[in-house]
Amino acid sequence: MNLIVWRGTKKIGGSCLEVSSATTRIIIDIGEVLPEIAVVKQRPRALPDAPGLFGRGDRKIDAILVSHGHGDHLGLIDLVDTEIPVFIGEKALKIYNLTAQFTGRKPIANPIKYLQSGQGFKIGDFTIVPYIVDHSGFDAYAFLLEQGGKTLVYTGDFRFHGRKQKATEYFVNSLPDVIDVLLIEGTMLSRTQEK
Ligand SMILES: [Zn+2]
Repeated sequence: MNLIVWRGTKKIGGSCLEVSSATTRIIIDIGEVLPEIAVVKQRPRALPDAPGLFGRGDRKIDAILVSHGHGDHLGLIDLVDTEIPVFIGEKALKIYNLTAQFTGRKPIANPIKYLQSGQGFKIGDFTIVPYIVDHSGFDAYAFLLEQGGKTLVYTGDFRFHGRKQKATEYFVNSLPDVIDVLLIEGTMLSRTQEK
């Protein structure tokens, strides 16, 4: 299993990662760089460098997993190659497409597969299990990925309080004892006044 963090380290926003094997490429989140959201109409939006994500590349991308509908995780979805299947929560997609009427974005035109919490599925030689988690963004998921005997967990944005806090606890308790790679959001780590 190979991992590329195209964007999202050392800053908040613009999250975009790629996990791959010899035969399969999966993008996790397609976020917009946060400071640019306010001025999106004034200048081009910064794109991550993943080959084939915004047009045909040397190797096709098999899927895009979207953790939730916040712009720093989903904001560039209207620009990606429309042939790439998108895996997303049903409600998150509905909210995106409804608000697109007001934000000037295009509704998502890609083939869609809805995430079902706890129900695993295959993409190429990867097995993926999404877990719904509590977050201020509605219909948010974390992902457990397995391939070639390795496991990777991508938490997306989550919290242990809120209306669905038990869902986050269920996600953590459902994970294997050994995880090879944990990718976790650190938005609150720099807010030292917070508990
Ligand atoms: Zn979020």
